[in-house]
Amino acid sequence: MTKQLLVTALLLLALLGQNHVKAYAEKQEFFKVGATSLNIRSNPDIHSEVVGSIPNRTQISVTEEQHGWVKVTYNGKSGWIASQFIYQTEGQETKHVRKSTSHNVTVKETGVRLRTGPGTGYSVVGTAEAGKAYQELNRTNGWVQIQLTGGNKVWISSTYTTSSFADKPSSPVKSLSGRTFIIDAGHGGSDPGALSFNGLQEKDFTLRASQAIALSLKQAGAQVMMTRNGDEFLTPAGRVSFSSRHSADVFISIHFNAFTNPGARGISTYYYTNGSDRDLAAELERALSRKLGLPNDGAKFGDYYVLRENPKLAVLIELGFITSRDDMSVIQNRSFNELAADAVTEGLSGYYQ
Ligand SMILES: [Zn+2]
Repeated sequence: MTKQLLVTALLLLALLGQNHVKAYAEKQEFFKVGATSLNIRSNPDIHSEVVGSIPNRTQISVTEEQHGWVKVTYNGKSGWIASQFIYQTEGQETKHVRKSTSHNVTVKETGVRLRTGPGTGYSVVGTAEAGKAYQELNRTNGWVQIQLTGGNKVWISSTYTTSSFADKPSSPVKSLSGRTFIIDAGHGGSDPGALSFNGLQEKDFTLRASQAIALSLKQAGAQVMMTRNGDEFLTPAGRVSFSSRHSADVFISIHFNAFTNPGARGISTYYYTNGSDRDLAAELERALSRKLGLPNDGAKFGDYYVLRENPKLAVLIELGFITSRDDMSVIQNRSFNELAADAVTEGLSGYYQ
């Protein structure tokens, strides 16, 4: 190796190293806690010591990940939290842009102090009345920033507030009143379904999505029945028998896909019978792919027991691949279940138009 070549090689190595560091820094991921209060444990293990807790919707940044646990630092304490209770956000700077997921807080007690900052050390500028609702501007360490009618921005302790979604974008959806749907959350109980790339179980994703879908359909005026509404085991025959026993227009089975190739992505919908089942699957596929921004490759024939043996109009939906990091960043987004639910509602009302 000539000296010049050596210098070039070293330079190249230095450049590569730099790129590597840059890529890592850019990949920092932000999450929010989606549980009332989440325990921080000393180790990535459910049996290890609890060293602290993080309140609902606290923004956290994750430094390490291990089999369904992520490492975080909160209030000066470092530890591990279960990753199924957090959802991905796009970092601090996008907080105000994402209007579709803004929250309202409602004051629980009269006389709660309003302060100039997030802590009891800040001065009191007034008190709040029970039942009053405000838009949430910010949230940190158990304090919520709200805007008063006059425009003043103040802080209130989150202990004295409840929160709810606000400004939910609603597309004009034809009423589904008079319709009845069976929502079938895939897997459950001793059957975890597929495992995500970060060790989460399909059965939990299917249940949360199914519950959101059921709620959205009810809000559109439909009646909804669920084959399971908790972590229960059901056989395919049990699901079909549920469908036979109840009168309903459509049976919709909710799943998430998995594949050994982590590059596999997107929404898939399946039907067994040509005709209405196929039309409905195609309608749902289009609505889901558009709303969630995930790829789709059209409705497909699927020889699944819950479709083949089903006496009703039946479709099976795979809401993305939990083995794909790209799909999971969509699936673990805080608005995913709501958006999927909107899409299913839209698809069904489109089908009945
Ligand atoms: Zn499944």
